[in-house]
Amino acid sequence: MVGQNWDEYRCIARKGLLQFKENLKTIAFTVRAVEVGTEKPTIIAGPCAVHSREQTLEIAQRVREAGADLLRGGAYKPRTSPYSFQGLGLEGLEILAEAREKTGLPIVTEVMDQHKVEEVGFYADVLQIGARNMQNYALLKDVGQYAAEHDEAVLLKTGLFPKLKEVLCAAEYVAVEYDKQGKIPKVILCERGINDSDGIMRNTPRPDFLAELRKATYLPVIGDPSHSTGRRDLVPGVATEYLDAGANGLLIHVIRNDEKPQINGEEVCDYQQGLTASAFARYLEAIKNRAVKQA
Ligand code: PEP
Ligand code: MN
Repeated sequence: MVGQNWDEYRCIARKGLLQFKENLKTIAFTVRAVEVGTEKPTIIAGPCAVHSREQTLEIAQRVREAGADLLRGGAYKPRTSPYSFQGLGLEGLEILAEAREKTGLPIVTEVMDQHKVEEVGFYADVLQIGARNMQNYALLKDVGQYAAEHDEAVLLKTGLFPKLKEVLCAAEYVAVEYDKQGKIPKVILCERGINDSDGIMRNTPRPDFLAELRKATYLPVIGDPSHSTGRRDLVPGVATEYLDAGANGLLIHVIRNDEKPQINGEEVCDYQQGLTASAFARYLEAIKNRAVKQA
């Protein structure tokens, strides 16, 4: 089934490359000084949205102390309701840049539309493409081109109800832009659960889908237990399920220990799925000896 038409995603297919076709290794690359795609799981953590300078700087500091590799926060947010907090935009990007300066952590942040690729790309080290945009092909091309040109990476989240081939071909759209420039694809895939909630969780985590992606491509694939569960109490367990399935890393939402449901009069974005900074540190301590499956 998968694999049969791997010509359609030829730049990222495991089968296409001798050094990857008989194992589960991934391509390794750097984001600033951070190595991604190695035997060590890559931990991407931070608030769902940048709400304020204090909030973001404190969380950045705490996730760095806990051992995270990259800081993630949204300045432009894709919200279901137009009345929900939409992000601080440029001001949020500047706060993220300050957090990077203070902690040394590279920044992952979402770009939602083609008009903002230059602006977001100027600040970001990793450009995130969200689930709702996984098949926005014009955006995939522009982001791929910009990231390749500026030696940045791309974090591509799986869609709301994706087929394996759709995810692989979406990643191919990005990867081929690196290929055109004679560069290796600095692309990370992220399984974030499918949008068919059973009422218990926000989405349905698919570690099995992540495992299939790992088999089909040599790109690193990480799991997102925050969006896939929508519940902080379920995050550690599902994170471990992703690692058991072969995840190259995790994307985890973190809130401050004393976080209130509102900041500056706005509801904290994805509050109920954020691990407190202490719970996050405990989880990283618990998994510190885990290695990524390579075979
Ligand atoms: C997010 O990462 O904060 C986000 C909005 O995720 P997704 O695109 O997976 O819904
Ligand atoms: Mn979120």
